[in-house]
Amino acid sequence: MAIRPTEVPVNPEGVLPPLERFAADLIAAYPTEQWWPAETSFEVMAGAVLVQNTRWSNVEHALARMRAADCLSAEAVSSCSPDRLRVLIKPAGCQSVKARRLGNLAQWLVDFGGHRQIAKTRTDELRARLLDINGVGPETADAILNFACGRPVFVADRYAQRLLARLGYLNGCDKAGRYETVRAMLEASVSGRAQALQDLHAATVLHCQQICTTVPQCSLCPFQQVCHRHCAG
Ligand code: SF4
Repeated sequence: MAIRPTEVPVNPEGVLPPLERFAADLIAAYPTEQWWPAETSFEVMAGAVLVQNTRWSNVEHALARMRAADCLSAEAVSSCSPDRLRVLIKPAGCQSVKARRLGNLAQWLVDFGGHRQIAKTRTDELRARLLDINGVGPETADAILNFACGRPVFVADRYAQRLLARLGYLNGCDKAGRYETVRAMLEASVSGRAQALQDLHAATVLHCQQICTTVPQCSLCPFQQVCHRHCAG
C-alpha cells in the first residue's frame, strides 16, 4: 500500500509538539480505511498469530487456505489435527510453532466462552488472560484487543518505538520497558478511542515503511523540523 503523507502543518518554532498533536497530525497525514480487513474477529486473531515474523502477504495466503478448508473459526482450529493445521498455514512460515500457538489461542477462546464472554470482560482482565496463552506476547495480545475486540489499546510495535525514539519523545526512557511506555503514552494521547488507535497504528506503520525507514528519508518527512534525530544531524 503506497500512501504519501498529506501536508502537515509545520511548527514554526521547531519545538516537538505535545504527543496528542503529533498523533493527530500523523493520522491526518495517512488517511486509511479498514487497515486490517477480515470477515470475522477470529480471522483477526488468527492473523495476529500468523503475522509474527513474516509479511502480511504470506498471512493472507495462509488465511485463504484455512478459509477454503473451512478451518477459520475457534471451534474448527481447536479440533483440527496439528499436522493438518501445519499444512494449511505453511505459507506463513514457522508452521510448527505457529500451528501450536494458533491451537492454543483457539482452545483458549472455546474454553473462555467465545466472543460473547469476551464482550463481558474488562480490557485489563482480557489482556492478562491473553498474555497467559503460550505464544501470545504483548504485541499479539494488543493487536487482538484493538483490532479483533475493538478495545482502546495501542499496538506499540517496533515501528512506533523507533519513530517516537527518533523524534525525541522517548529521551531518557529505559529501553527495556519501551513497549509498555509507548503503549501507555499513545493510549493517553488519543483519548482512548479504539478506532483512533487503529488509525494511529496504521499511520505509524505506513510512515515507517515509506519514510522513517531503517535509513530515514528525512527530506520527505513532514516532521523533520521538530525531529530530534534530524535536527541533531
Ligand atoms: S525527520 Fe527523519 S528521523 Fe525524524 S521522523 Fe522524519 S524520517 Fe524519521
